Amino acid sequence: MRADKTSEQKSKLNIVVAIDGPAGAGKSTIARHLARHFGLLNLETGAMYRAFALKALRLDVPLGDSAALERLAAETDIQLKPGDDENHVLLDGEDVTGQIRNQVVTDAASRVSVFPPIRAAMVKRQQEMGAKGGVVMEGRDIGTVVFPNAEVKIFLDAAPEVRGMRRYDQIGQVGQTGQRGHGDAKPVPPPEEVIRDLRARDERDRNRADSPLRPAPDSFLLDSTNLTLDEAVKAAEATVNAWLAKREMADSQR
Ligand code: C5P
Repeated sequence: MRADKTSEQKSKLNIVVAIDGPAGAGKSTIARHLARHFGLLNLETGAMYRAFALKALRLDVPLGDSAALERLAAETDIQLKPGDDENHVLLDGEDVTGQIRNQVVTDAASRVSVFPPIRAAMVKRQQEMGAKGGVVMEGRDIGTVVFPNAEVKIFLDAAPEVRGMRRYDQIGQVGQTGQRGHGDAKPVPPPEEVIRDLRARDERDRNRADSPLRPAPDSFLLDSTNLTLDEAVKAAEATVNAWLAKREMADSQR
């Protein structure tokens, strides 16, 4: 049997693939591809932090008030519904998918995600969602905290300027509403501003005390600075295939 899973074999794959890395490294594209290719559910954990940040913004809860945010988290229900192209995010039952990718929510998500009680609530939910396996989970702390025993861990990175330009192109495509395919009239910020914002988010993610962004020691490091996204996708696919081939070999020797 070949290690590369075809559609008939897909349902048997109950592994967890953890994809971590900073913004703009290509995580979503790669996670989407791996999910389709290997028949896994794609769970974008960033969307959960974004939905929570949206709620805090709507209710004027100060983004630096850990205790108030913790109280808010206790009365918030966030669900991810994997779809063909992206996850749908339900915030207390309301589909907010189209409202969480703009710059204000992006910045707020980065701020609220530094607080341990918020992270604990999200991690618990993510562990429940991935408990049965069969998922590609994408975020910042999946291989280190959420699923430290994930079968495959990929840490994606790229130079900040390259990630910033990818993000800039993406904003141009989706518009400032952030809903894929639904651009609006708001001007796209200049590339320097996009790169600056991205560096600020990186800084917070990498330097927070709780679950800072860093590669798990057993992760495969994939730097896409000099790769097209297509090449990065192929490298990630090869990593999963290599793990499957190893497992198959181990199974056949039993
Ligand atoms: O991945 P995405 O850009 O949608 O994530 C939004 C924000 O949520 C990030 O800037 C990061 O600070 C936070 N995040 C996190 N841990 C995760 C996923 C996202 O802290 N697992």
